Amino acid sequence: MITTYFDNASTTPVDRRVIEKMRACLGADGTYGNPASTTHGFGWMASEEVEWSRAMVAETIGADAREIVWTSGATESDNLAIRGVLEGMANSSGRHKIITMETEHKAVLDTCAHLSGAEVVYLKPESDGLLSLDSLAKVLDDTVLLVSVMLVNNETGVIQPLKEIAGMAHDAGALMHSDLAQSVGKLPWTVDSLAIDLGSLSAHKVHGPKGIGALYVRRGSCRVAEQQHGGHHERGMRSGTLPTHQIVGMGEAYRIAQLESHAEIERLNQYRDQIEAAIEQVGGIRCNGQRGVPHILNITIEGVDAERLMAAMPQIAVSTGSACNSATIEPSHVLQSMGLTRQQGLSSLRISLGRMTTADEVSILTSVLTDAVSQLRSTA
Ligand SMILES: *Cc1c(COP(=O)(O)O)cnc(C)c1O
Repeated sequence: MITTYFDNASTTPVDRRVIEKMRACLGADGTYGNPASTTHGFGWMASEEVEWSRAMVAETIGADAREIVWTSGATESDNLAIRGVLEGMANSSGRHKIITMETEHKAVLDTCAHLSGAEVVYLKPESDGLLSLDSLAKVLDDTVLLVSVMLVNNETGVIQPLKEIAGMAHDAGALMHSDLAQSVGKLPWTVDSLAIDLGSLSAHKVHGPKGIGALYVRRGSCRVAEQQHGGHHERGMRSGTLPTHQIVGMGEAYRIAQLESHAEIERLNQYRDQIEAAIEQVGGIRCNGQRGVPHILNITIEGVDAERLMAAMPQIAVSTGSACNSATIEPSHVLQSMGLTRQQGLSSLRISLGRMTTADEVSILTSVLTDAVSQLRSTA
């Protein structure tokens, strides 16, 4: 059976152009040198590729190349930002409080749960998934070191008013970090338009390879203490031999995202409208969260268990929320935090689109979903 992929928020296929660029950095006839080798051309050439990619990623997010630190992905970037700032600045600033939201990715929540010497405040969103600025104002004071709020939620696609949030954080003398893993190529923004100090990036959500990401660190705004020692790479913020092939993969993926995002957003918006129209026909299905990015749609299907629904449509790959939760039957922490009941949470599906999604696949999705829901409801 051919399975149609609607789980692009968990990962995406690597773009062909990206694969070609990566391939050229691996073999004996390619740019395989260690970018840190300064004594010969193999190293210089690899370093040139790395710096091209750094510039590409920086340009895509409106940053300076010197503000990009390579990591293994957004998970590591979240860890490095939060732990690094706490270790690097808590003592000198006398601030030890971190404010985040219950709806953050586990990479932020689990990092916060393991901090020592910090007090963490978890804010609840409104029922539409948005952070209430009043609730933020109530907890912002001169003990707050860092506010960490993602721009685009990976389960609902909800977009937070980051510029306002960052403005409030800065007025209180705090730093602003944002997990941007779902944000690249899906809506226009720059690090300045968001006014953030730190931002976590990943390649594999934008048709780049898994295992590579970056942390944006605004110059002069903060000190990030290295969390992994050994060689002082990346201006002392992250040691380890740079994986040239992974890095050029990310650079090329971001270059393409930047180049093609306008047309892609338009196309995905049309697909999303089509899916929403079909869902409306079925009835008893609600979309969770304020309408956000075009590629993520989270729905609750009244009276239908999501696990049973997925079993009834094996030709469609979707998910019940974040992949990290898929092994357990606990409903999504994001939906529960937005006020959905346990049962509503267990009746919810995330449909996520990507560059390779076609109009035909969208038609298959809507007809299979419609049939499966009516079948399950009629036998319930
Ligand atoms: C996928 C994702 C991550 C994890 O990124 P990796 O690069 O896989 O570590 C973190 N945050 C969000 C919002 C994500 O969607």
